[in-house]
Amino acid sequence: MRPYLLPFLVAVTCVALETAAEIIQPTFMSYVVDKGVLLADVPTILHYGAIMLAIALAGAAAAVARNYFSTYAAQHAGRDLRSSLYSHIQTLSQENIDQFHTASLVTRLTNDVNVATRFINSLGRISFKMPLTVIGALALLIYQMPAMAPVVVVVILLTVVIIVLMTVLSRPRYARLQKSLDRLNGVAQEYLQSVRVVKAFAAEKREDARFTEASENYAMSGIEAMHISATFIPLINLTANAGILALLYFSQAQDPGQIGHLMAAVNYMTQLIMSLGLFGNVLSEGMRALTSSERIAEVLTQSPAQQTAANPVSLKDTSTQQTAAGLSLTFKDVGFTYAGSSEPALSHVSFNIEAGTTLGIIGPTGSGKTTLINLVPRFYDATYGTVLLNGCDVTQLDPHELRASIAVVNQSALLFSGTIEDNLRWGDEDATLAELTEACGIACATSFIEQLPEGYKALLGQGGVNLSGGQKQRLCLARALLKDPGLLILDDCTSALDSATEHKVLEGLRQLAHRQTTLLISQRIATMRYADAILVLENGQVRGFGTHDSLLKDCATYRAIYASQMGREEPGHEC
Ligand code: ADP
Ligand code: MG
Repeated sequence: MRPYLLPFLVAVTCVALETAAEIIQPTFMSYVVDKGVLLADVPTILHYGAIMLAIALAGAAAAVARNYFSTYAAQHAGRDLRSSLYSHIQTLSQENIDQFHTASLVTRLTNDVNVATRFINSLGRISFKMPLTVIGALALLIYQMPAMAPVVVVVILLTVVIIVLMTVLSRPRYARLQKSLDRLNGVAQEYLQSVRVVKAFAAEKREDARFTEASENYAMSGIEAMHISATFIPLINLTANAGILALLYFSQAQDPGQIGHLMAAVNYMTQLIMSLGLFGNVLSEGMRALTSSERIAEVLTQSPAQQTAANPVSLKDTSTQQTAAGLSLTFKDVGFTYAGSSEPALSHVSFNIEAGTTLGIIGPTGSGKTTLINLVPRFYDATYGTVLLNGCDVTQLDPHELRASIAVVNQSALLFSGTIEDNLRWGDEDATLAELTEACGIACATSFIEQLPEGYKALLGQGGVNLSGGQKQRLCLARALLKDPGLLILDDCTSALDSATEHKVLEGLRQLAHRQTTLLISQRIATMRYADAILVLENGQVRGFGTHDSLLKDCATYRAIYASQMGREEPGHEC
């Protein structure tokens, strides 16, 4: 809020002016009645009437200004909050993000920030009206009818009790409301990301039911939270009306010549209670905003699960003894267990590959291949053991440089909305057209790109929906190649290509092999022939390391995979 303090203070000043204008009106009205109407004095009526009109106009102008300035301050503060929250999320590690769940982060970025923004706006627009009105109206009421002070005090005390009760009761309900919104977004997001799977399993009904349940849950939490204000705000009104009745009752003794005073007093009582009611509303909104701001703070105060070395080592300093291009990679007794999981995903993994070579990694699904490669760019950090690039512990390297020198092509080919060229330029912003075409050539993407009417300028939908799986994989590969990485990680990224295209792609990569170190992950034995050495994983453990021939001889797991893929089943082994 600090940068927008000025407009906020202007808004609050306008609120003060507006409130003053409202508060003074009944007093002038009492003059109109007592000095004008009761005495049939038309010039006096006109005189005070004109003053009242001028005050009303000034009040209206102040009201417009406070809305303007308060909205300005609130929306800008909201924008800044959203941006800093988003920037902070970018610094978090995969582990942090897993912990919050994506849907909840989306809710926090949008709905929670909106709730906080709305509250700031209410604060600027109305909340300061309350103390001003209460003090002003109270003073003028007592000035008009001093005998009524006890009635007014009782009414105010009652109202305060109601407001406090309302606040205390609504707080946990708002926390539940935001949680159920998280869940609603989670269900929707999961469905939207996997429409095809849902359709393929004809599971729309089940998804519908899941969404309906989450939606119902959200509605119920909303109703539960609203019940509180729905019950308590009319109670405040009831108290107000009872107070006015009491005022009228006790005013029987009033001098009939002072009827204007009584009218003004009733008016002040109404103003007073209305502003208390309004305050109740803002307070209940504040309770919701408090819940939301706690949820925002939870993310903002989350420090990245990964520590960066105080004096990070540069990869450039480690490569002096290297002869070949690319990075050497060593795993030293590495183990990893996902947070919240009881089984380790990797145990005691050790191997070493030289710069400029290609390591094939094979193993059944769930054997830990993806987990293993995620440890190199530090998407996660090893639970024990060390991962070394060019002999240097990855946790000691400058994280930006580390990730800049590694390109990962994931199992799920992830593209962004924009043109094909935009997507490729993620790899290298300044790549020339020749470089783009070269990378696409190696990835066997040129042929299909050139068939598109707009070529490289063809627009992709969100996630590249308008491309086939194989086309997406080829674009992702080209994007990675443009990065010209020291270590290229291909995580099962040729799975959607036909064998002929896969062969062409891998053959092309082999031509480049001297330029970088490559990790080639696949479940297919056939793919492993492009590797210099092969690591066999099963249940997170290394079962073998060597060439195709040596593994066939020494590694039972490899033999079993080989047998199953060559059409000869080996009994008792599931792959
Ligand atoms: P692969 O790539 O060989 O198919 P993964 O490395 O993806 O295997 O998974 C290895 C094991 O770790 C599996 O048992 C899987 O269920 C588990 N796993 C993978 N990702 C996560 C995660 N984010 N949280 C918890 N467990 C996970
Ligand atoms: Mg995998």
